Amino acid sequence: TKTMHKNFKNIDKIVYGKGSFNQIDDILAPKRVENDKFMVFIVDKYFEGKELADRIPAHAEDLVFFEDIDQYEPTTDQVDNLRDKILAEKGIPAGIIGIGGGSIMDIAKALSLMVTNEGSSQLYQGLNLVKKAGVYHMGVPTVAGTGAECSMTAVLTGPVKKLGLKCDWTVFNQAVLDPELLSTVERNQWFYTGMDCYIHCIEAESGLYFNAYSKAYGDQALSLCREIYLGDNAGQNLENDEKLMIASLFGGLSLTYSEVGACHALSYGLSKILGTRHGYANCLAFYHLEEFYGDAVNEFKSMIEKHNIDLPQGLSKEWSEETIDAMAEVAYNLPHMWNHAIGLDWKEKWTKEDIKKLYRRL
Ligand code: NAD
Ligand code: ZN
Repeated sequence: TKTMHKNFKNIDKIVYGKGSFNQIDDILAPKRVENDKFMVFIVDKYFEGKELADRIPAHAEDLVFFEDIDQYEPTTDQVDNLRDKILAEKGIPAGIIGIGGGSIMDIAKALSLMVTNEGSSQLYQGLNLVKKAGVYHMGVPTVAGTGAECSMTAVLTGPVKKLGLKCDWTVFNQAVLDPELLSTVERNQWFYTGMDCYIHCIEAESGLYFNAYSKAYGDQALSLCREIYLGDNAGQNLENDEKLMIASLFGGLSLTYSEVGACHALSYGLSKILGTRHGYANCLAFYHLEEFYGDAVNEFKSMIEKHNIDLPQGLSKEWSEETIDAMAEVAYNLPHMWNHAIGLDWKEKWTKEDIKKLYRRL
């Protein structure tokens, strides 16, 4: 059989550095002539009334939405409603700018596709289902680690599935990586989302699809994570935020050219069934996966200890058999992750029962 290698669409342009947020207006200027000639800013509600909100370069014709992502992770309804509102009010925007973490960036990515594609975003959850190119879109991360700034997916939860709108058009045209924006992230959140990056790299290197491309990015991202979370200057400071912004990007690229494994499979089960947040769910699972990730789990534990992070144990005592079963069902149905983690013959070595045993450790 013919080997099919990934042919991956990258971000068109990246600006990086302290204060680069101030360049957004100049970057958008030449794009403002497109479509109905206005921009839409999707901003994490956290920033409403904060200093950053006053620095958003919105013109009179632009729309600014402060989106609450603390109640639910991004949903298909949320994106559909925003789309309907924008089209009814002003037409097709010249561009969409997402200012926030993985949740907000995913909303901005999905919205950029949905202003040109008809029907509900539910119709497009999956690979290459989107019919038309979207509009120009820019990602401005304010919490770092997910790699959503560079990935080709926009993860949405719908009534039927939690799945990404995944195609070349999903990838941002522009990323603005300003480390200063990370300064206000709460310590636990800084850790959970940052560990998403660490775990992407560890999972990418622990399996079948690992290769020199993935390794080159992953090694760099891991060494940055080690400086940020374990080095002499460990902790939240500007120097480390400059590193974390790049670690997140490189971790995302490492993962893109390889695959995640057991930890993300368990994490998806937790998110889907219990609504547990992605970064936090990863941490809950990773703590107990020594046979998959060896010394990295000990390293992870020393990071938890150093930063005095809340990570509860004994959660599974509260879970019913049905809950554990439902989570294992979700995790089992991610064959690409088990192919990577265990091998193409994983179904002969690995069962839903084995996955349930892992959940019972949590
Ligand atoms: P998030 O966007 O969910 O935000 C987490 C919390 O941090 C929120 O309470 C938010 O208000 C707050 N916050 C954000 N920036 C802040 C700042 N500068 N100061 C203070 N508070 C701030 O966090 P996340 O971990 O970046 O994203 C998780 C989401 O990303 C999940 O919905 C997950 O599905 C998605 N995700 C997507 C991809 C992808 O490739 N598209 C990859 C991984 C995860
Ligand atoms: Zn992840």
